[in-house]
Amino acid sequence: MHPMLKPALRRAWRGRNTVQFGVTPAHAVTLGPLDIATASFLELLDGTRGLPLLREEARALDLSDRHVDTLVKRLAAAGLLDDPRAGGPAADALRHRAEAMERQRPDVASLSVVHPEPGSGLRRLAARRAMRVQVRGAGRVGAAIAAVLSGSGVGRVDVLDGGHTEPWDIAPGGLPAAAVGERRDSAARQLVRRSAVGGSPRATETDRRSESGEPGLSLIVVAPRDGLAVYAPDPAVAGPWIASGTPHLYAGVIEATGVVGPLVLPGGTGCAGCLALRRSDQDEQWPRMLTQWRSGRRGAVPACDLGLATAVAGLAAAHALSFLDGELPGSTGARWEAALPLLDWRSERIGPHLDCSCGAAGQTEGELTSEAGPAHDTMAG
Ligand SMILES: [Zn+2]
Repeated sequence: MHPMLKPALRRAWRGRNTVQFGVTPAHAVTLGPLDIATASFLELLDGTRGLPLLREEARALDLSDRHVDTLVKRLAAAGLLDDPRAGGPAADALRHRAEAMERQRPDVASLSVVHPEPGSGLRRLAARRAMRVQVRGAGRVGAAIAAVLSGSGVGRVDVLDGGHTEPWDIAPGGLPAAAVGERRDSAARQLVRRSAVGGSPRATETDRRSESGEPGLSLIVVAPRDGLAVYAPDPAVAGPWIASGTPHLYAGVIEATGVVGPLVLPGGTGCAGCLALRRSDQDEQWPRMLTQWRSGRRGAVPACDLGLATAVAGLAAAHALSFLDGELPGSTGARWEAALPLLDWRSERIGPHLDCSCGAAGQTEGELTSEAGPAHDTMAG
């Protein structure tokens, strides 16, 4: 191990002998009280020295081997240490791809903040290359989500949509103006390719894939151009995903409201069916109105604020990545909504419904609780 204090966390002294790693409450950790020798020793944790050399240099500071070992262990337990050589074979392979590494340095740094164990940043980033995500919809929201996922290192991003690109589908980060008139699916495919880090996955990975057949989908992102299909998703459309156990995340804009979620874990969290039943419970006229909304307004260009669409796409992509990286983001079984002009994001829990055939209502909530570590960790040095 070559311990390195995570460079992504800013360091500041709180008073004379306590140091705080990290600025925001979500990831800040304090360490102290520290004597001067230990404080000097921290400067040596820059990833260039292995433990034997660290112990040797610590002796010059009058620090015992035991003190060094305990300190390193505590720093690691607090999630403050990285290791520039850790992360396993996939991370090693990624280290050799200089262009991808340079481009994704901020992403690795972010992952290192979120995931405590040394080498986890690169390990998670490398793991994304084996993921396959399907984005359904190539409008302002869907295309931008696909581009962000591709640019974030997701190995395969498929986009499904019909028809041809219209001028109002164009968005910065989404389909370009040159795509107008092209088939939406092929324009989106090109966008995904252009956004990919260091080109498409290497041939060896492709070969491995074809040997083992098509990999299953890690996630479906439902981002249709018509936001009604996100606000009031059709349970019949989601049926096959529930049956196959494929996680899916809804995101879109309807009128002047942006919607992210729910992320549905089939059989575990509330689904489109649960949501429909819940709406009918709350408002018995809901199904009647829904039928009218679904059949009307054919041909009209749906309202969609570009800023809101971009925010929804970014937030949805971040939730998707958090899930792909092994976490349960806040959209799991919940929906985030923001309406213009105030744009204050609010969440509503989409609980399982007893009458829904997805079976989520039979699950215990506790089984789905994320096992993320404590946000704060205070240590005595
Ligand atoms: Zn359900």
